Amino acid sequence: MTERTGRCLCGAVSFTLSAEPLAVRVCWCRDCQHLAANGTVNLLVAADALTVSGTLSEFLKTADSGNEISRQFCATCGTHVLARSSARPQFRVLRAGNLDEPSSIRPNMNIWAASAPDWACLDQALERIEQQPLPPKPAPSAEA
Ligand SMILES: [Zn+2]
Ligand SMILES: [Zn+2]
Repeated sequence: MTERTGRCLCGAVSFTLSAEPLAVRVCWCRDCQHLAANGTVNLLVAADALTVSGTLSEFLKTADSGNEISRQFCATCGTHVLARSSARPQFRVLRAGNLDEPSSIRPNMNIWAASAPDWACLDQALERIEQQPLPPKPAPSAEA
């Protein structure tokens, strides 16, 4: 298991991720385009594998999927750090750009590809999902 660390632009918020991400995706939903001016690269992680320190501010919005999304930002520099969906409270969505080592992960899917702009650079080698992806399958494990 690799432990990953990261922080916001100013460093007031930092985090430690103690488990492998369940999925790594490039999201082209319109909300992500507002935040990033492009697709966003996100790690879907188990909430209990993520430890965050620092003060986050929150913005709530209903997404195209119909789920209420809580987006959390550094209260000082405004960096978007993570998000949480009302439909899947056991997961967090972590922005890959805040990782101390962004090359330690690799996206494997474009999601909400139908709303990507004409000029978007979508890696054709990645799985393409036009809208909301299915939730990840439970990891094969010995857990009861
Ligand atoms: Zn900050
Ligand atoms: Zn998105």
